[in-house]
Amino acid sequence: MANPSLLILPGDGIGPEVMAQVTRIIDWFGEKRDLAFDVEHDLVGGAAYDKHGTPLHDDTMARALEVDAVLLGAVGGPKYDDLDFSVKPERGLLRLRKEMDLFSNLRPAQCFDALADFSSLKKDIVAGLDIMIVRELTSGVYFGEPRGIFEEGNEHVGINTQRYTESEIERVARSAFELARRRGSKVCSMEKANVMESGILWREVTQRVRDAEYPDIELSHMYADNGAMQLVRAPKQFDVIVTDNLFGDILSDCAAMLTGSLGMLPSASLGAPNADGRPKALYEPVHGSAPDIAGQGKANPIACILSFAMALRYSFDQGDEAARLEKAVEQALADGARTPDLMGPEGGTPITTEEMGDAILKA
Ligand code: ATP
Ligand code: MG
Repeated sequence: MANPSLLILPGDGIGPEVMAQVTRIIDWFGEKRDLAFDVEHDLVGGAAYDKHGTPLHDDTMARALEVDAVLLGAVGGPKYDDLDFSVKPERGLLRLRKEMDLFSNLRPAQCFDALADFSSLKKDIVAGLDIMIVRELTSGVYFGEPRGIFEEGNEHVGINTQRYTESEIERVARSAFELARRRGSKVCSMEKANVMESGILWREVTQRVRDAEYPDIELSHMYADNGAMQLVRAPKQFDVIVTDNLFGDILSDCAAMLTGSLGMLPSASLGAPNADGRPKALYEPVHGSAPDIAGQGKANPIACILSFAMALRYSFDQGDEAARLEKAVEQALADGARTPDLMGPEGGTPITTEEMGDAILKA
């Protein structure tokens, strides 16, 4: 059987630096765990613009639609700030998201014990935290029509429209329930059904999908404002949270700060199933290209490494190997490995991006 295929797009800034550590880990899996991937490297963002005059070449787009998973570093940087909007590095990423139809954005908030002091909350609230927020990514108020700034009488009015179809809600709900089957079998859906029609439909449809297709999953519903409060008060009550584009945007950033550094946060975006039934998938760290620290060996590669762990679990059915990699990250942190972003007030000597890769490989 052919090896699973992986398209690696390191991108700009610290993207290539953190991706270099992932590449070492991928090689390790091939050598030590007999888990080989067909890996292709290509350009995206400013790097692609420099070579091709476009932030995403058509050939790269075509490959992204064919491979089992895409792993992306980061795009953008000050060098490209003055480019025309149509060729900005970010447009490369947006095109990938759009053409792969990545409607389900998975953002875990996981707190490694070694970093529990690092959270903005008390240690006992976050220690051992492991939750997943599923955000609908391609519809809702960011895309609904009509939208615009219009004249109305003698003033202007700014209009956006929250709009969800049943099928849009169904597909993101399914993706959350599928996820819950691999985790704690518990989903909490968040909307504002008390004041929004789209919320009423959201609640009805998620419940209907659960009753018809996922009776093994426990589904609860919560108003999103209460959800924000509960996320900060007692986040461990949740396992999978599913919510719309706008609420998900806010709630996932809120959850991110439960765990500490931006350098620790992975993400996955899933789309419609391919011919083999697996969803199209793009994995990337939550952070950007961090031009302020690029080229200095200061970047924390863990967000990108954990993004690869998500790929192992969700695109390649290698949950045990994903857990192995996550444990190695946990062990390296417990052994005291710290890039500069993870230095607490107690100080100490930070290590480089590559040394963090060493520590994780050793673990
Ligand atoms: P984007 O617009 O691409 O999301 P951003 O403006 O949100 O980018 P980032 O590039 O994510 O910003 O960087 C925000 C801050 O976090 C910077 O100070 C950066 O140095 C720091 N940072 C981001 N990623 C990492 C990382 N992997 N390791 C260490 N520090 C990081
Ligand atoms: Mg950002």
